[in-house]
Amino acid sequence: MIYLDYQATTPLAPEARDAMLRWLDGPDGTGFGNPHSAHRMGRQAAAAVELARDRVAALFPAGGKVIFTGSATEAINLAIRGTASRGGTVSVSAIEHAAVLDTAKSCGKWHELNVAQDGQCNVKQDPPSDTRLICVMQVNNEIGTIQPTLDWHRRAKEMNALYLCDAVQAYGKMEVTGADMIAISAHKFHGPKGIGALWVRDGLELEEVQTGGGQEFGLRSGTLSPALCAGFGAAAKEAKDRMAQDAEHIEQLWSRARELFSDWTLNGSEDARWHGNLNIRREGLDVARLMSDCRNVMFSAGSACASGSGRPSHVLKAIGLSDEEAKSSIRLGFGRYTTMEQIEEAAQAINTAAKEQGL
Ligand code: PLP
Repeated sequence: MIYLDYQATTPLAPEARDAMLRWLDGPDGTGFGNPHSAHRMGRQAAAAVELARDRVAALFPAGGKVIFTGSATEAINLAIRGTASRGGTVSVSAIEHAAVLDTAKSCGKWHELNVAQDGQCNVKQDPPSDTRLICVMQVNNEIGTIQPTLDWHRRAKEMNALYLCDAVQAYGKMEVTGADMIAISAHKFHGPKGIGALWVRDGLELEEVQTGGGQEFGLRSGTLSPALCAGFGAAAKEAKDRMAQDAEHIEQLWSRARELFSDWTLNGSEDARWHGNLNIRREGLDVARLMSDCRNVMFSAGSACASGSGRPSHVLKAIGLSDEEAKSSIRLGFGRYTTMEQIEEAAQAINTAAKEQGL
């Protein structure tokens, strides 16, 4: 099987797996302690959690704190709901992930920021003057476009608003730039599923949205999993150590993939884009048939989170594609562990299947 769905999730790095095992051991080991217990086993587990926190923090701007959560979705909920008492409008780009869009919509007044045909949400537009929070993601999960986050952070400051950046698809791959709050997820950069984090800049107070034992600075109650934290931390360390090497590998895969799919139309910007995301379309393509004909290639029709709904992707619609164009699009995602041979084999299978549809 060829895995080309790196935006949905990524393979667990061996380094992350190794780091987790010590904290998963059973009755004969000492790794299963509760990190919130005061005894020795608890303190050892707590030390593992804090090492992981430092490793995750090393890829964020200096200062601020890392709050572990169960997912990026939970981190985003904490950011949006934890600032809701400020009142006012939440302004979100039209291509945000459902975790942002639906949470903003459920929190009262919200406003959609426009996105141009190339997938860019630029600052030459006016959010409502009572905007309290601006949410513009760093890298889009469906079309990979990189947003001008520094401009939006500046704009939010000018408006006396806060800025939340969903950096789920950027963290570990490129520099994560300034914001008031940044949400990430471990499984998108070779860490385990079931853990995410919200980075919050110094001086910003949030209100808790989940009550209980008061863990995570009183903001996210619930016992942490040292194993998940350790895997998250190890994945962050690995990503930091090999960021340039990973990026170079992905550039090579991208160049080859662009040649192999030269008959297809690219959705979104070519340059302001994470090159591990190839979202392309072919007029008249039956994507369901293509996927069934290429069962050995794991790829996505639109976003993995939205696929299955039958509705055309809100991201592709926001950049001006018709329903037909959106429905004839596929997303190929590749990364650290993808080989050139896999890209070539997948392209051969996909292009042959498209030809069989008369394209
Ligand atoms: N934001 C973006 C851009 C994503 O791609 C995803 C997952 O696909 C999420 C948020 C939600 O992440 P999680 O699965 O950790 O809740």
